[in-house]
Amino acid sequence: MTVTREEAIELLEAMVRIDSVTPWLIPGGAGEGDIARFTRDWLADLGLEATLEEVEPGRPNVMAWLRGSAPGPTICLSAHSDTVGYANWADSALHPVVEGDRMIGLGVADDKGGCAAAMLAVRELVRSGTELAGNVLVALVIDEEGVSIGTEHLVAHHAAEIDLAINLEPDGSHTIYGEHQGFGWIDIVVHGEPAHGSAPDKGVDAIVHMAEVVTRLHRLDETRWKPNPDPKNGRTVFHTGTIRGGTDYATYPNQAVLGIEIGTQPGESLADRVAEIETIFAEVTESEPRFRGEVVVRLDRDPFTGAGNESLLSALGDATEAVNGVRSPVTGLNAWTDAALFQSAGIPTVLFGPEGGNYHAAQEWVSIPDMIATAEILRQTLVTLIGRKDGDS
Ligand SMILES: [Zn+2]
Repeated sequence: MTVTREEAIELLEAMVRIDSVTPWLIPGGAGEGDIARFTRDWLADLGLEATLEEVEPGRPNVMAWLRGSAPGPTICLSAHSDTVGYANWADSALHPVVEGDRMIGLGVADDKGGCAAAMLAVRELVRSGTELAGNVLVALVIDEEGVSIGTEHLVAHHAAEIDLAINLEPDGSHTIYGEHQGFGWIDIVVHGEPAHGSAPDKGVDAIVHMAEVVTRLHRLDETRWKPNPDPKNGRTVFHTGTIRGGTDYATYPNQAVLGIEIGTQPGESLADRVAEIETIFAEVTESEPRFRGEVVVRLDRDPFTGAGNESLLSALGDATEAVNGVRSPVTGLNAWTDAALFQSAGIPTVLFGPEGGNYHAAQEWVSIPDMIATAEILRQTLVTLIGRKDGDS
């Protein structure tokens, strides 16, 4: 028994047609209200106890419970219902098209393919009549493309009810992820001394001083982070994102602000990266005594280091082998996902998802057969973990 291609296409197309651009990223974005009502109704029709939990006005998580006939652990299948914006799409972002084995459209992979895989897995579980000793929670959360307030809300209110979690995000390589990098968004603020252009003795050029910082940051990346990748999570993320500063052509710039994204590996924290930046400040001060800089942390996300997830890894690995004929390897990732928030809340978690590509870009695609395979892998994993066996009471 498995999901048909027509069923998978029908569900995913319906979800892609519903605009759910995250308003945190794109002011005025449609938000997750419409997609949440659609998915809640779809899951409620299966007989799940499906509710909306408003995280921000008009922006609800969907929480849908399939309760077993006997007690046992609760497994959460989690995916995010929001998408990035679609300014870089010609016109077809919300009008998905099927080309061969691929569906193309905004969010087909990231992460509506994950949402659909979880929903279809549960539908097959219900249809099969499998008795469960335990529960399944399908959680479709908001704002992952923003600052993850959906998953923060979920774990703040429900962590104690969840025993294991599978966080679904698209992936091109049939891999199960048991860890990944953390990251920070940091502003580096360099202060100058505004002065008339004809008063070099008084002026301190914040932009020239910032250039010294940027050069040293780049050197640190080249000499430390780039040559020493984590064996599982790859090269530590570092890149500049934004820069602004100065007031006008005629005045020494009083301030320059650099926005960077910077990664942390398991065992590290953002404080380690901040200390490295402060060492750079000290170096610049040696040659530029009037240098003044400060670090402002805008967002700090811990790395994901899976723990206690052995039963999940085993069941999921077995299911990939049964469905795909090849056992998916377990490794780490050089990106960040909501899996870190689940694990930090004490819920053993793994990260997995259907094959796709061009995430956050035009012509985003998902493999329809792999989305169906993912649904079947999830169903088998649930049966292994909480399928009722003789002797369960
Ligand atoms: Zn995503």
